[in-house]
Order: sequence, then structure tokens, then C-alpha cells
Amino acid sequence: MIDIHPKDLTLAQLRAQMLRWDEKPFRGEQVFRGLYRHGARTPDEIRGIPAELRKKLPAELFMLRLNDRIASRQDETQKFLFEAADGVLLETVYMEYSYGSTVCISSQAGCRMGCAFCASGLPGLMRNLTPGEMADQVLLARELSGADIRHVVVMGTGEPFDNPESLAAFIEIITDPLGLGLSRRGITVSTCGLLGQLARFAKAFPQVGVAISLHAPNDLIRQKIMPVARRYPMDKVLAAARAYTEETGRRITFEYALIGGVNDAREHAEELAEKLRGMNAHVNLIRLHTVPESGLAASDSAHVEGFLQTLLSRHIQATLRRSLGEDIFAACGQLRNSRTKPR
Ligand code: SF4
Repeated sequence: MIDIHPKDLTLAQLRAQMLRWDEKPFRGEQVFRGLYRHGARTPDEIRGIPAELRKKLPAELFMLRLNDRIASRQDETQKFLFEAADGVLLETVYMEYSYGSTVCISSQAGCRMGCAFCASGLPGLMRNLTPGEMADQVLLARELSGADIRHVVVMGTGEPFDNPESLAAFIEIITDPLGLGLSRRGITVSTCGLLGQLARFAKAFPQVGVAISLHAPNDLIRQKIMPVARRYPMDKVLAAARAYTEETGRRITFEYALIGGVNDAREHAEELAEKLRGMNAHVNLIRLHTVPESGLAASDSAHVEGFLQTLLSRHIQATLRRSLGEDIFAACGQLRNSRTKPR
């Protein structure tokens, strides 16, 4: 009876599991290499391991299967809908940026953070994804796109710091040189601001990039659109961000979705610039993506440009992020655990 899937284990855990299965620890390395470097689908495809060990492994080595896929007509973005063994659906997005091929993965099925502008939180949290289900999104996106994916952003459905153990194991797995061997510097984790976890994460993974979803210049606005802001007020978020930059020596990114009439006025940009003054930070402006149920609208071009220029004139590093995949509901905040479009 298989009670654990090898894809859910880091290499160190897999070596320990071999001892529990009365196998030599080095078999763990063979299995790990087979899973990640060779993308084995069945135990028979793992080279050099004894027949007895093959019987102890699950018959199916991928934890996800493709349910649906859709390609954008406006750019190279592709969205994959995957199905886990228990029927849970989750979305993964493949994108081509100037700096390379990137996959945006989900860390939870659904989300309990309830941000007003986001489709992912609409059904609430169904369950956490396991490390193997997160790693399989990278493996399968690489296989389905045919691209050599070097960048991973944990910005799909879910709040990664609400599933911290899986997130940590996932990063260990995909950066292990015996497996996919991705660079930790090529990974970015996006959080709505669960600050207790941020400090722990920065200590454990100082090379991994962090993006904080800010979306407002003050508590009044932030609390209206992000329930998490009631738990973690803005001054605490900014203090944690400063501590992160000091601990890691890395720049922190703030995500800011411009919502028409809510957070996009010139005085909002001025207030934000004042609060970020002197911080090693970059503001990623995003024009709000359409989520029909939210009742919120994107800022018009004049407000977007005005906001950006106000930040730049006050020496705050800022860019307007190119939106990819909006026509297939694959852009930030549009992912949901269902088929390709809202019905
Ligand atoms: S923006 Fe992120 S944290 Fe907020 S509801 Fe959506 S997935 Fe959850």
C-alpha cells in the first residue's frame, strides 16, 4: 500500500523513505533523477532500480493530468487546466517574457484571502496543493510548451504563505541539481502579506524573490479590497518589507493593480511614493484585469500613465507590467479552478 507519493518528497526525504522501504538511500537519488530529469511517467521508466523497488512506487508518477489547454491569440501565453487524482482542478500559465520563458503556478486550489478584485478567491479554499502537485505544474508546462523554462512565479491561485511547508519543499525540489536544477534567483513568490511567514521565508530562502501585493497607498483603501489588511496594517507590511531587504540584500517588489476610481488618483501615487521613499523596492503596476463578478473596473490610460509618472518623478522605481493572456483569462487575478472562462 503506497501511502506517500515520491513527487511530494525532497531528495533528502526520498533518501530517508528508501530506508523505510528497506532500500539503500542512494536509490532515492535514482528515483529523484528519474522523476525530474527524465520525466518518468511509470516506475518502469526509471533507470537502474530493482524490480522490488518499482513495485513500491505508485503506478502513475505524474500527480496531475491535463484536462484542458488554451492558447492566447494576442501573445504567446498558454493556460493549462490540470486535474489532480481527487478531481481537484487547478490552473497554470506559461508566458514568454523578454527575459525568458516563465511558468506561473498555483499553490492552492482556491484561496481563502478574499481579495475583491481576484477570481481565484471566489470559491474559497478547497485545499492546499502538495509539493509534487506544484512541481508537476513546472514539469508539465515545460513538456507541453516545449520551452526550457528557467523562471517560476508562484502567483497563480492561492496564497503561497498559507501553504508554507509545501512551498518550501517545492522550492527544494525544483532547485535540486539532480532534478530540474532551477536557480533560486529565477523564482518569485507573491504574497498578499502574511507577514509571520515572510520573515521565516526570507531566512530560509534569501535568494528567492518576493513580491507583496499592496494595491493601495493606505489602510483605508487596502482594507476595502483586501481583507488581510485588517490583520496586517500597512505600517507593519512596510516594516516587514524593509526587514526583508536588509535580511536578504534583495530588492522587494510591490504589486499594485490600478482600479478605476479606487486607488489610481495622483494623490494615491504621491502617498505611496512618500511611504516607499528610501526603500530598495520596485513597484509593478498592473492595469486591473477583468473579473466580471468583482464589479471593479480597470483604470483608464490617463490614470495609469499619470500614476506611473508620479512615482518615477519621486524617484520610486516603477514599471507598468505588460499584461499577458488577458483574452484567455490567464492574467493576474483571473485564474480560477474551472474551465477556461467564467460562464
Ligand atoms: S489575489 Fe492572491 S491572495 Fe488574494 S484572493 Fe487572489 S489568489 Fe488569493
